[in-house]
Amino acid sequence: MKLTRVPNWIRKSKSDRIWDFSVSSKSIFLTFDDGPQEEVTEWVLDLLDQENIQATFFCVGNNVALNPKIYQRILDSGHQVGNHSYTHPNAWKTPTEDYLKDVEKAKEVIQSNYFRPPYGKISNKIVKEVENMGMTTVMWSLLSYDFEQDLDVEKQLKNVLSKVEPGDVVVFHDSQKSFSNLKKMLPSFVKYVKDQGWSFSRID
Ligand SMILES: [Zn+2]
Repeated sequence: MKLTRVPNWIRKSKSDRIWDFSVSSKSIFLTFDDGPQEEVTEWVLDLLDQENIQATFFCVGNNVALNPKIYQRILDSGHQVGNHSYTHPNAWKTPTEDYLKDVEKAKEVIQSNYFRPPYGKISNKIVKEVENMGMTTVMWSLLSYDFEQDLDVEKQLKNVLSKVEPGDVVVFHDSQKSFSNLKKMLPSFVKYVKDQGWSFSRID
């Protein structure tokens, strides 16, 4: 069983970070982690353009340095960007000082008020330190699992669609690793949300 929806008790116990937004908004908050990457981020941007949707991209600093033009296109298209570290370290396996230096380095190439920890792993102390750098930590309420290599895409897509609600912050990945799953999931996800009469918003 995949933990597609983050349980309420976890969200309530960690209220120093954003998990979702008020359901009265009727908006879904699409987020894309791990880009910008060639081809896949461009494919996402094309789709969002076509559908007239704004989203939030949690970028890896090193990928921004490698793909500055794609990063600029994200900004020029009016999407939100967030800091997703420079080298994608795991906070539970990295000394805090090194971890924070990595986030600081990403800050030089990604101007944002938002931070999302790689792998969703973070400590209360790091949440506070990141806040001192001027960023709010953003988690998610719904996980697509598009990064899983042996994913039963049809089954997981149904699972995600049955669970999505207004106010949800949903995670997809604009990474090569996720691309084949993403291509199958994202267009159907967008169509479903629009069919419900809901809209999409960027995190602001
Ligand atoms: Zn990531």
